[in-house]
Amino acid sequence: MATETSVLAGLEPHVFWGHFEALTRIARPSRHEEPVIEHVRRWTERHGFELRQDAGRNLVIHVPATPGREGAPTITLQGHLDMVCERDPSSPNDAAEGRIALVRDGDWLTADGTTLGADDGVAIAAMMALVEDESLAHGPLELLMTVAEEVGLEGANDLDPGLVGGSILVNLDSEEDGKLTVGCAGSTDTWVRIEASRDAAGDEVVALAVTVSGGQGGHSGMGIALGRSNAVKVLGRALREASETVPFRLVSFSGGKSRNAIPRDAGAVCSVAAGDEDAFRTAVAASAATIRDAFTTTDPSLSIAVDSADASDAPWTAEATARLLDAVALVPTGPLAMSQDFDDLVETSTSLGEALTEGDRLTLHSLSRSSNDSALPEVIATLDAAARLAGGQLEVKVNYGGWRPKLDSPALAVAKTVYERLFDEPPIVTAVHAGLETAVIGSKVHGLDMLSFGPQIEFPHSPDERVSIPTVERFWKLLVAFLDELSAEAR
Ligand SMILES: [Zn+2]
Repeated sequence: MATETSVLAGLEPHVFWGHFEALTRIARPSRHEEPVIEHVRRWTERHGFELRQDAGRNLVIHVPATPGREGAPTITLQGHLDMVCERDPSSPNDAAEGRIALVRDGDWLTADGTTLGADDGVAIAAMMALVEDESLAHGPLELLMTVAEEVGLEGANDLDPGLVGGSILVNLDSEEDGKLTVGCAGSTDTWVRIEASRDAAGDEVVALAVTVSGGQGGHSGMGIALGRSNAVKVLGRALREASETVPFRLVSFSGGKSRNAIPRDAGAVCSVAAGDEDAFRTAVAASAATIRDAFTTTDPSLSIAVDSADASDAPWTAEATARLLDAVALVPTGPLAMSQDFDDLVETSTSLGEALTEGDRLTLHSLSRSSNDSALPEVIATLDAAARLAGGQLEVKVNYGGWRPKLDSPALAVAKTVYERLFDEPPIVTAVHAGLETAVIGSKVHGLDMLSFGPQIEFPHSPDERVSIPTVERFWKLLVAFLDELSAEAR
């Protein structure tokens, strides 16, 4: 519990903040949740709740209804036990060892030198505080606490669907006050793999490196509609345009660091006849000028440079070079369809995230997303066609389906009514173009009516992570009133 000397002294809801503070003293990096699982296990024993755990180590705690609400539908509350443990290298604190030093900065709560773990300690603390408070009314509850959310939704992917018996699931992992989230994107990874032959470079050639840098990048889902440059595509375009005036052969082509981010860096080594070096530099510079002009608003610092390089490998043949550059041109990147339910929300997109040269092979790795599962096959077909036309093959890995918004959801109707009654204004109902655990859980447990909300959390996954204290109280009030209303209706 919060003590009088704690920076949390006096904050409401008192019991919530006590649980939140206790969590900051327990190490809970992804895949190493055992201490926090033990903490929750001891807590359930003290309260006499039934706890079940699946092979994926996710927890479900069964909490009986409060008196008079036994006939209400079972509601599943859900959040994740793990947190991202980032820190400033100079800080004495380390979230990975359960050393989080809370700091109050006006209306914000943050941590000194580390992530705070409000993502998603808020959910776990809220669940614990809620069921301890005997003044609150609710129907039967299931507290679903997943593990390893921050490493590709691993826990949710391993979830035993038999553990979830509720008809309504409320995810408590949203980071925007005032919003009710009712949808998110599913995702599929693809790899275009092209094997192409190489041939000795011959005499009188120079190796030149073409490097793209300085783009703004960003999240490959949430940021896909910002129009920012993709360094892999920019590199492909510059080389393709240069090849129209100067012959050269590719030695290597690579870029991007993560499927989840828009590439900011890419580089290629080209084998150019010594007599063509100046013409090659001129051609790339001409192309670069047009490309920079295209991105003058979104990526003012975009740079495309040519430098001397060492080339130890034989270049691909001229035919292979043309084919590989065609492939880079053909693989789409960007938003493909907008949501019909929400303004300015992307429904379907694809992002070319990584290019990799290994031996004779070029691999182009994309992540395609949609909240509409029926839309993705067309995107995958496009990538497959690109792979085949370039003489390569496509590998496909479906990660999970989308959470498609249902604007006539009964749970959403109740949440909207309760929200308006509490705060005298309607909530913003929205969806996100990224993956949430709800997408995975919803594709395993069919027919779940799902909703997500939470307090305002900023800069998650960084040492600047902070949670707005007044919005925690709003979040708490909404959660309490929502559970009361849902169980009161069914009485
Ligand atoms: Zn989270």
